[in-house]
Amino acid sequence: MAIRTKVAIIGAGAVGTSLAYALLIRKSAREVVLYDVNSAKVEAEVLDLAHGTLFTNPSRVSGSSDIEVIRDAQVVVITAGAKQKPGQSRMDLAAVNVALLRDLMPRLVAVAPKAIYILVTNPCDVMAYAAVKFGSLPTSQVFSSGTVLDSSRLRWLLAETTGVATASVHAMIIGEHGDSEFALWSQASIGPVPLAEWNLPNRAPMSARELKALADDVKNAAYKVIQGKGATNYAIGLSGARIVEAVLRDENAILPVSSVLKNYKGISDVALSVPSIVGAAGVAQVIDVPMTADEQRQLQESAEAIKQTLKLLGLN
Ligand code: NAD
Repeated sequence: MAIRTKVAIIGAGAVGTSLAYALLIRKSAREVVLYDVNSAKVEAEVLDLAHGTLFTNPSRVSGSSDIEVIRDAQVVVITAGAKQKPGQSRMDLAAVNVALLRDLMPRLVAVAPKAIYILVTNPCDVMAYAAVKFGSLPTSQVFSSGTVLDSSRLRWLLAETTGVATASVHAMIIGEHGDSEFALWSQASIGPVPLAEWNLPNRAPMSARELKALADDVKNAAYKVIQGKGATNYAIGLSGARIVEAVLRDENAILPVSSVLKNYKGISDVALSVPSIVGAAGVAQVIDVPMTADEQRQLQESAEAIKQTLKLLGLN
């Protein structure tokens, strides 16, 4: 790891602080800074995190309601913004958070022009597209956490079902981080064995119906967590830390992040998640992964759903 690594987190709410905690515990960066408009909140969160740094050395944590705090960060993760309120439509939420980003991006880029920007605020695919526009940045420099969290949820569910370690389960959710996302089952494997050929203890491989139920569980996971505790934070914090590490360590790791696509299987001018190579320059390449005709259709539908939102918001 480089000697001086600085990660800025925008928004010191449930997601931003969990990300900071994950970064500190995993020793992902030398310096973690938080920026939030609520100065009392950001100062209190930073104190609480700093009080534990004896056990996370050598990372430093600081924060402020002054945007200067993020100057020259290598990575900026945006978690600021509203989350869906009961009765609020996704479109209303999108409009609120896009308005916030329109104001925020130019100010962030002014102090951290070379940073890689990672959007976590929802709807994160729309936000990634908007951030490129509002920040006047190259598409490789901006992406969203996309379906990294959803894929982690899927791999955990498959690990529980097969009794194999999560890291040995290879499967991805792609498309929108939202209702039109889908599992890329044709490429899923348990270790080196294609999922379709993996026999469960004392019985045949999972049926199409069982696979659909797993993918539906992933799609509904956030609703379930939010219903019980009001927010999702730990798993997205860890997912965010993993993405940040891929950038800071120039790993060229393959992750399902969401960036603005250019003729990807005929899809252009919309951000959605496909397997992507992530390193120091952001998204270095999107991978032309083999898909069945049905998977290609689902990807197209997902792109159309996001494009519809972009259009209604006047973004394209
Ligand atoms: P939260 O309400 O706990 O925190 C939001 C924070 O943003 C608050 O502290 C608020 O003061 C701050 N904020 C608002 N406007 C700001 C501005 N202009 N500049 C700086 N800070 C500002 O919300 P949360 O639970 O942390 O969720 C944050 C976002 O992350 C939501 O949009 C949520 O839907 C999203 N989220 C995304 C994923 C994902 O996988 N992409 C997962 C979980 C949550």
